[in-house]
Amino acid sequence: MRQRFVNLRIPDHGNDVREAEILVDGGRIVALAAPADGDGGDEERIDLGGALVLPGVIDGHVHFDDPGFTHRETFASGTRAAAAGGVSCVVDMPCTTLPPVTRGSALDNKLSVIRPKAHVDFMLWGGVCENSMAEPDWREHLREIAEAGVGSIKVYMLSGMDTFRDLGREQLRAVLAEAARLGVPVGVHAEDRELVHALTERLRSAGRERPLDYAASRPAEAEINAVATMRQLCRETGARVHIVHVGTGRALDLIAGAKEEGLPMSGETCPHFLAFTDEDLAAQGAVLKTAPVVKSAADQKRLWQGVASGELDYVATDHAAGQWPEEKHTGSIWTDYGGVPGVELMLPYLYSEGVRKGRITLERLVEVTASAPARFFGIERRKGRLAPGLDADLVVFDPDETWTVRAGELHNLNRYTPHEGQLLTGRVRALYVRGRLAYQRRAGGEHFAPPGTGEWVRRESRC
Ligand SMILES: [Zn+2]
Repeated sequence: MRQRFVNLRIPDHGNDVREAEILVDGGRIVALAAPADGDGGDEERIDLGGALVLPGVIDGHVHFDDPGFTHRETFASGTRAAAAGGVSCVVDMPCTTLPPVTRGSALDNKLSVIRPKAHVDFMLWGGVCENSMAEPDWREHLREIAEAGVGSIKVYMLSGMDTFRDLGREQLRAVLAEAARLGVPVGVHAEDRELVHALTERLRSAGRERPLDYAASRPAEAEINAVATMRQLCRETGARVHIVHVGTGRALDLIAGAKEEGLPMSGETCPHFLAFTDEDLAAQGAVLKTAPVVKSAADQKRLWQGVASGELDYVATDHAAGQWPEEKHTGSIWTDYGGVPGVELMLPYLYSEGVRKGRITLERLVEVTASAPARFFGIERRKGRLAPGLDADLVVFDPDETWTVRAGELHNLNRYTPHEGQLLTGRVRALYVRGRLAYQRRAGGEHFAPPGTGEWVRRESRC
C-alpha cells in the first residue's frame, strides 16, 4: 500500500522548516518530495493540515515492568503512553522484569509476554548483575542476549533491587571486556555505592526524614566518583560505555573530557533533571523522588548546555512509575518508590522548554530524541530520521497548541507527574509507526492501534 502524506512541514537546518510530502510504501519512507511533485496515482493521500512532522521519538530508557512488576506498569499501558507522546520505539530495561533479562531464556520469556501488548515498536536492554555473575557460565548468557539483538547491556554501580544487584569495580571490568568482544555497548547507572550507603546510614539513623535528606544521601560527588571510575575502565577495556540519567554538571564535564580524549563514552540525561532542582524536590517530596536525585540549579543549567552542544548525546526518560499512591506515600521518604513516569511528556516538554525557549534548535531536538538514540542502539538504518529507506515513524505535531499537563490525562498505569499543572506549548496530534496510525487525538476522543501492532526491533550492527 502506497501512502502520500501531504500538507506538512519537516525540520530543516537550525530552527528552519520546509514544506514537503512524504511518500511511504510498505511502511517505509520511499521519498521526501516538494509539494505537488509526482502524480498521485494509486495511493492513499493523508492530509496533515499543515502540521509539523518529526521522526518518531526513540525513548532509550524506560521501565515498563512487564512481566514481574505489573502493579507499576504493563507493556500495554506503557506503550499506550508512548504512542500518545510521539514515541514510536521504546527501549525497555532488563532489571525491572522477572526474571531479569540476563540470559536468552529470560529474553524469550519476556518477548512472549510483551509482544501481544505492544502498541509501538520496542527494543530490549539486556543486563548483567551480581546475581547473574554468580553463575559460572555468565559469559555464555551474555553472549546469548547480545547475539539475540538487545540494544545495549545495563549494569548498576548502585542498585536498590535484590533481583538485580550492583557490581564492584573488578566485576564491571570483566563485563566491559566481554561486551567489547561482543560489540555491544554497556549502559551504566553511575553512583558511588560506598558513599551513598554510608550517607544513607548516617542520615537515617539520625532520624532525618525530609526530602532534602534523601537528596543529601545521593550527592553530586556520588555520580562524579562513579563516572570517573567508568572513564578509567573505558580507557582500560576499550568498551563502549554509556552513562544513563546524568544529573550532575561535573559528571557531564568528565564525559565531555573522555570524548575529547577519544574514548568511546557517551551520556544521556532525563527531562526531570532538565526541568527540576532540589528546591522542587523540597516542595514536591516523593512525587519527584528519583534515583539519582535532582540536583542544583547550576547542574540543571549545565545539562541544558550539554544537550545543546552534543556533550550529552541524547535525552531519555527513565520512565519508572511506582504504584500510586501506595508506593509513593509509604510514610517515609526513604521507602517511597524512586521513579517518575515520563515517556508521554518528553517530546512536548523538550519542544516547549527547549526549542521554544531558545535552549536548543529544532534540528537538535530531532537529534536528541531520535537520530542519536538510533545510532547508539544500532538501528540507524531503520529508524531515527525522515529519510528514504527508513521506517515511516511520523509524529504529527502541533507546535502552537498550548495545554496544561494533568496527571489524570496521562495514559500509563499509575498517573502522577512532577509536571502537574505545567503549561506546555506544542502537542502530539498523531503518531504513525511504519506508516500505520498508532495514535490520534480527535474531537471527542482518542484512537490507538490495537495491542500487538508494535514490533520487536533488534540491534543491527556491532558497536
Ligand atoms: Zn532506569
